[in-house]
Amino acid sequence: METIRNIYCVGRNYALHAHELNNEIPTAPFLFAKPSHALAQADGGEILLPADRGPVHFEVELVIQIARDYEQGKSVDELVERMALGIDFTLRDVQSELKRKGLPWLLAKGFPNSAVLTKFVPFPGVESCNAVDFSLKKNGEHVQRGNIKDMIFDLQTIVDFSARHFGLGRGDIIFTGTPAGVGPVESGERLELLWGEEVLGACTIKRG
Ligand code: ZN
Repeated sequence: METIRNIYCVGRNYALHAHELNNEIPTAPFLFAKPSHALAQADGGEILLPADRGPVHFEVELVIQIARDYEQGKSVDELVERMALGIDFTLRDVQSELKRKGLPWLLAKGFPNSAVLTKFVPFPGVESCNAVDFSLKKNGEHVQRGNIKDMIFDLQTIVDFSARHFGLGRGDIIFTGTPAGVGPVESGERLELLWGEEVLGACTIKRG
């Protein structure tokens, strides 16, 4: 597996999700990063999440991996060869407190196992991705469904913005934002991440 370098995440990239958390629709892309220790695989096994810092929310997202160093003018279809689905786990009460105080989100977004990835699959191109919904099931019930054509900032804008402000190179991954429907997870709950009808990954939650 290609080594993962930087982990960038887009916040508030779907209008309905921004609304559900009472956030304004951003006028420029809004990004944060996670440490590499946050990575975990949705390979069917258990994912350990914190138990003592309030609710942990799931956020299912399309994740793209950059295959070659960025150069201005390169398209997403040229830069991206692989994609996965991911869960940007979030300590929601901690995040609300940080927001209130105007502090960075790292404590709420950067804990171990907070960046869950399915297996990677070949990236079929932006046009093809627009034709497929991604979704999250919790205990067999759909809780989130999204489509990247509903993004406020499209993949090209996110890629160009990331390159300009942080640098973007081979191995970097980007969590591209979550659609509406986020909610809490508890021990024993089963999560499945679907691309269309295909399950790309699954995990069982353990908090403790
Ligand atoms: Zn997110």
